[in-house]
Amino acid sequence: MKQHERIPDSFHIDTDAFYNAIVKSTEDYIYIVDMSTDTSLVSENMARDFDLPGRLVPGLIPLWGELIHEKDKKRYYDSIEEMLSGYTDIHNVEYQVLNKKNEYIWVCCRGLLSRDGSGKPTMFAGVVTPVGSKGKMDRTTGLFTQEECKNHIEAYLNLGNTTGGFLLLGIDDFKRINNLKNHTFGDSVLRKIAQDIQHMIPQKAEIFRFDGDEGAVFCPEATLDDMYSLYSRIHIYANKEHEIDGISYYCTISAGIAMLGTDADNYLDLIKCAMSALEASKKKGKNMCTAFTPDLLKSNLYIMELTNELQRCVINDMEGFSVVYQPLVRSDELKLKGAEALLRWYSPKMKKVGPGEFIPLLESSGNIVTVGKWVLDKAFGTCKRWIAKWPDFVMNINVSYVQIIEDDFVPYIEELLKKYDLPARHIVLEMTESYFVTDMPTLKATFQRLQDIDICIAMDDFGTGYSSLGMLSQTLADIVKIDRMFISLINDKEHFFNRSFIQAVINLCHSIGISVCVEGVEYEDELDTVRSMSADSIQGYYISKPVTPEEFEEKYWNG
Ligand code: C2E
Ligand code: CA
Ligand code: CA
Repeated sequence: MKQHERIPDSFHIDTDAFYNAIVKSTEDYIYIVDMSTDTSLVSENMARDFDLPGRLVPGLIPLWGELIHEKDKKRYYDSIEEMLSGYTDIHNVEYQVLNKKNEYIWVCCRGLLSRDGSGKPTMFAGVVTPVGSKGKMDRTTGLFTQEECKNHIEAYLNLGNTTGGFLLLGIDDFKRINNLKNHTFGDSVLRKIAQDIQHMIPQKAEIFRFDGDEGAVFCPEATLDDMYSLYSRIHIYANKEHEIDGISYYCTISAGIAMLGTDADNYLDLIKCAMSALEASKKKGKNMCTAFTPDLLKSNLYIMELTNELQRCVINDMEGFSVVYQPLVRSDELKLKGAEALLRWYSPKMKKVGPGEFIPLLESSGNIVTVGKWVLDKAFGTCKRWIAKWPDFVMNINVSYVQIIEDDFVPYIEELLKKYDLPARHIVLEMTESYFVTDMPTLKATFQRLQDIDICIAMDDFGTGYSSLGMLSQTLADIVKIDRMFISLINDKEHFFNRSFIQAVINLCHSIGISVCVEGVEYEDELDTVRSMSADSIQGYYISKPVTPEEFEEKYWNG
């Protein structure tokens, strides 16, 4: 080792320069409290990021305390009290503090109290470190990670606790949100949801970010009812229109509940149960919450079998699939206007499974693209045959969002029009209401391209999703189909809302050139009422149930 020439016996520094150098070389927040005057100097980034009056802060300790999350306040003040009472000179506490963006971030706050000869506090100084940068925290959402969730629950169990509720949350169709703009926008949405939910959870609860679009809330000692009511708050929040950077979006949240003590007694089992409950919520149609029961494992197994069998049938040349047709009549003379093509599937192994059950599975596996093309081909072919008999016949075909965002969707429609030499005015494509309200540029562009080639677009199931009457005036739809839930009870005096709703939709649509179809007419008195409201077309069991093409021809061929 090289010999030092001279070791100095003292070292003088410019404390201001030293302080500035330290502050500039770290992202931590630095504070110094002069205990005699109760005035503090905080680093520039601390004054910038938190709601403080500036770099010089009178009464920092209580002011800072105000910004600390309710459930952490006690720990913070206990530590201050321990110092002031002379019990210790060290402050070292982790807590969540509210920044200027109105987000709670986890920090580790450390400091040292100096005293004079008589033990009176003179100076208190230290650093506040955002824990996010230390790996425990997810950077996107500012929440603790899944790994921390495991640590947290295991520590809770190790203390001898046995009960608690676990809510696993999954954002529905998060891909759709990402498609609205880009992943940075998607991240902003995740962050906003995480922060908003954080404000809704009980004091003792903790929230964590899981993979992708999933998160979880653990509530110590909670009951199943507590967990349902927590979800219900989240549900109400999620089912509203949100906005970030001028882009409005909708995003619903599905959930699964698992209870510590009843469903599981360790972390891994708890997660497994919650995952299968969440899966059930998603499979049942999303935007809902399911609590775990042992039966779920059986039903998830059933769903897996169903998915496999569907896959086999699709590959095996659409085995067991068929298309049935339900007539639509003009409301004035009740003459045949057209039909809606509806998919059916029968497998000897799974027996009868309705489209409400198998279509979501085809969508989640992506098979709906192949099956949808097949339905379009069948329905176009049938339409071509039937316009020879009924020259104004119009065929309505349901399309899924998954299909329509494929690049070759519009070219495929054009190809079929050519293949069957069919004028486009005989085709209506039906899409569920919720896709009309998003700001998704690709979807709008596709609708526009379809309308440019004279294909009509119908907004299906109106009234079941997020749309309001107000947005009808901005929609690209040519036709609105009012969901059948509004027709039942239409003549019941206690449910006059349904009747006024239908009438309002019809009036509004007519004033802006949109035609209206009322679905689900089952009884004669419903038919009479709907006709008196001057809907354009009517569909329902009262006219006919969906039938095979052969039955359709037999029934209507001769008027
Ligand atoms: P949807 O598009 O709303 O179709 C109308 C549904 O209401 C059909 O159910 C029809 O049978 C039923 N319905 C018609 N009139 C009445 C009535 O008076 N009373 C009652 N209770 N029900 C009536 P279905 O065939 O079970 O289809 C369910 C859903 O599955 C459809 O709802 C549609 O969203 C979807 N779907 C069916 N076929 C296809 C398809 O080829 N592609 C896609 N993407 N979805 C399809
Ligand atoms: Ca439909
Ligand atoms: Ca419908």
